[in-house]
Amino acid sequence: MRRLPRYLKKVEPNAHKIEEHCRKYQRLREEKQLRKSERDRQRRQAEAKATYEKSKKKEQQSEHEASDPDFASDLNDGKTYRYPFLPWLIETKKAQFLNFLSMEKCFQGLLSTPLSTFHLMQLDSEDFCSFLKKSASLSNSSNPNCNRMGELLVEKHAKYIITVEKRKDDFESVVMEHLRLNGVYWGLTTLDIMGKLAAVEQDEVSSWVMQCQHESGGFGGNIGHDPHVLYTLSAIQVLVLFDKLHVLDIDKVSNYIAGLQNEDGSFSGDIWGEVDTRFSYIAILSLALLHRLDKIDVGKAVKYILSCKNVDGGFGCTPGAESHAGQIFCCVAALAITGSLHHVDKDLLGWWLCERQVKSGGLNGRPEKLPDVCYSWWVLSSLIMIDRVHWIDKGKLVKFILDCQDKENGGISDRPDDAVDVFHTYFGVAGLSLLEYPGIKPIDPAYALPVDVVNRVMLGRYSLGFLHTSS
Ligand SMILES: [Zn+2]
Repeated sequence: MRRLPRYLKKVEPNAHKIEEHCRKYQRLREEKQLRKSERDRQRRQAEAKATYEKSKKKEQQSEHEASDPDFASDLNDGKTYRYPFLPWLIETKKAQFLNFLSMEKCFQGLLSTPLSTFHLMQLDSEDFCSFLKKSASLSNSSNPNCNRMGELLVEKHAKYIITVEKRKDDFESVVMEHLRLNGVYWGLTTLDIMGKLAAVEQDEVSSWVMQCQHESGGFGGNIGHDPHVLYTLSAIQVLVLFDKLHVLDIDKVSNYIAGLQNEDGSFSGDIWGEVDTRFSYIAILSLALLHRLDKIDVGKAVKYILSCKNVDGGFGCTPGAESHAGQIFCCVAALAITGSLHHVDKDLLGWWLCERQVKSGGLNGRPEKLPDVCYSWWVLSSLIMIDRVHWIDKGKLVKFILDCQDKENGGISDRPDDAVDVFHTYFGVAGLSLLEYPGIKPIDPAYALPVDVVNRVMLGRYSLGFLHTSS
């Protein structure tokens, strides 16, 4: 509040009253604002609740229909879940899972449908058998939706990504130089979920990736650049995509990552010591892909992540730091991979996340910010992992992402009519994959890799040779 100048107080006998009025006015204004934001909050909550109730009703309806003899047609109309594979559930349901192995033949039919793994985790063996029969017949008949590619310009995006990779001297390539390994991961994953990975010279790319490795075991963003966990994860993800992990000295890489864990359980990004929950996720994910989680103190890592949880249910980059969607994704995914999701207040966090959807259908990263295509990944994958994705309007979000496409030259931007880049192209297509957009492969919300690739690398340790026959 503005105080009156001293000279005015001298000449104005009622100065104290004016000040009092000012204070009162200020208080009233604050109260009014508070009431308004409370009303807004209640309105948003009511809207989200209505959406939730509507989807719950729909779910019950489709459950009812699922017991119908015409189960197969129900699966095709997109009403049923096509949840990405949740590999961490294997640990808890391992016994059940191993029982299923005797049904190897049924399994082969099952694996060619993306619905498979979610149901695998959910069903008892009896239901499972009947499901297998249905899905085996289903996987032979192609999904009618797949032919109707809608508006996602797959060919143009694939062409855009491949040309960006080849260009070396334009502005974007110069800006991207130190991030090149990340860019390669974004581009290749996008190509893979669109079914276009064959367009890439895999041997050439993987030999370039290996040239980015240092003596320490870590990878730099480009040849000759300093190592960091960010690029090390991208290198691992690219090799996993190509099914070429064997070219890697796995102990050397995992020792590098494990060496970055601090006494309190947190992780530094590199030798310079910056600490951030992003690095916790990256370290945990990298080691999970390499089957070397035993090299770190997982309990301490989880405890540190939980120390970054806020009262709004979200997570920040360090203890006490503001909640942010990108950070929430990292923390929730790290907890998911380590089987610690029970520490998350799913309803509370679900509210915060679903309030990120704005009128245009896009999602923002924090209250009062503009929507951005990359949050389609961070917010959406978090909502899927905590099972609250039905709290947002999925159709509107699909439309928002499709509106961000460059319809002439391919690529996706952060917002409609902005310049495109590989980063947002990846997050746009990956977001559509999470939204079950027809014709693109499902992507795993925690591992940020196509579901079939995660199956291959995570189930590989059970030496299920036949799993490799999946598409
Ligand atoms: Zn963005």
